[in-house]
Amino acid sequence: MNPTEQVVVLGATGSIGLSTLDVIARNAARYQVYALVAGQNVEQMTKLCLTHNPKFAIMDCEHAARALKEHLKHTRTEVLCGAQEMAHIVAHTDVDIVMSAIVGAAGLLPTLSAVEAGKKVLLANKESLVMSGQLFMDKVVRHGATLLPIDSEHNAIYQCLPHALQQDTNKGLNQFGVSKILLTGSGGPFLTRDINSLKEVTVEQAVAHPNWSMGQKISVDSATMMNKGLEFIEAKWLFACQAEDIDVVIHPQSMIHSMVQYNDGSIIAQMGQPDMRTPIAYGLAYPERINAGVEPLDFASIADFTFTKPDFARYPNLKLAIDACKSGQAATTVINAANEIAVAAFLKKQIGFCDIYRVNSQVLDKSILGSLGTIDEIMALDAQTRQLAREVVEHISNV
Ligand code: NAD
Ligand code: MG
Repeated sequence: MNPTEQVVVLGATGSIGLSTLDVIARNAARYQVYALVAGQNVEQMTKLCLTHNPKFAIMDCEHAARALKEHLKHTRTEVLCGAQEMAHIVAHTDVDIVMSAIVGAAGLLPTLSAVEAGKKVLLANKESLVMSGQLFMDKVVRHGATLLPIDSEHNAIYQCLPHALQQDTNKGLNQFGVSKILLTGSGGPFLTRDINSLKEVTVEQAVAHPNWSMGQKISVDSATMMNKGLEFIEAKWLFACQAEDIDVVIHPQSMIHSMVQYNDGSIIAQMGQPDMRTPIAYGLAYPERINAGVEPLDFASIADFTFTKPDFARYPNLKLAIDACKSGQAATTVINAANEIAVAAFLKKQIGFCDIYRVNSQVLDKSILGSLGTIDEIMALDAQTRQLAREVVEHISNV
């Protein structure tokens, strides 16, 4: 029996955070919650702390931290506040595993702190890799961190790779006879909707994903397929390959989570229910397998199992992200920041669904794409791009 492992959950009140805590609770002899981290949701955080009894709870916002402290005053949980405390706690010597599941660029610095402390890092926050690819991966190697992909597609790909490549993806896919990564995506809720009516899509329609239950930002990204674009970039960094090595395949049923194609004609796929507890359990226990609370697929009840190519006229954000991936780091940092602002503006009903692409492409056109050598330079470009994107949103919403 392994000794109990101490886990920090970044983004504990979110969709991935809650699924992680569900898997931990099912395997309580093996994992203990060391710290929970969230943005502002005091009510949810209070419940989670009372259930999981962490040593620390950290909120992003001061007001929320004060309220949480009041709710937890009779418990052992110490309440802290702010990004610096998050970075500090993930690096503590008692911590074994860090789940990186804050949404968006806010996840970058605490995740890097876990990497720099050489932790086992379970990466759901794809945005951090999109923002800082090479620098991020270099730090993983330099600090001896273990990086396990949690995004279901990347987790699937990882599961389909030979063990030696799992241990060191820098050895290169070609050395092991891998000829392609086949990144699957459902196509989201508008796969078959009349393309001319996409501009009328409402927030409620966009966040209603047919197969997965997720946070709002990633749900909108799935509807525009920017999510697949971000995942394309994520795959390039995680598996040390080039854009030419990755194909996107639409698979509306979300049962195959992605595939790896080999030189001899074999294609290995990972399948399962569209339930994030499977990749989370895989990451927590790797290389062992633990109970995730997920039922296996029932093949007898599957009616359809289909595949198509993505249509870039329907999903222009996907094309934009793939082109950015080919262009380089600055372009993907810009795309990520612009998209976060555009999606937030769409969720606040300031702009329409198709305007998300307009914001992203206009911001990319207006940006100067220099080279980025440090995390500080990346953060500066991120901040500058957000400002530019806010101006473009303002302009579009006033027309
Ligand atoms: P969510 O919106 O449900 O949850 C986000 C979490 O981040 C919340 O706990 C929130 O409080 C926290 N947060 C937000 N801003 C913060 C800040 N500044 N400081 C600290 N905490 C902050 O999002 P989600 O769907 O759970 O997604 C989380 C991440 O995982 C995203 O990067 C997403 O792309 C990735 N991901 C999610 C899924 C999924 O099925 N939900 C699948 C693959 C990857
Ligand atoms: Mg995914």
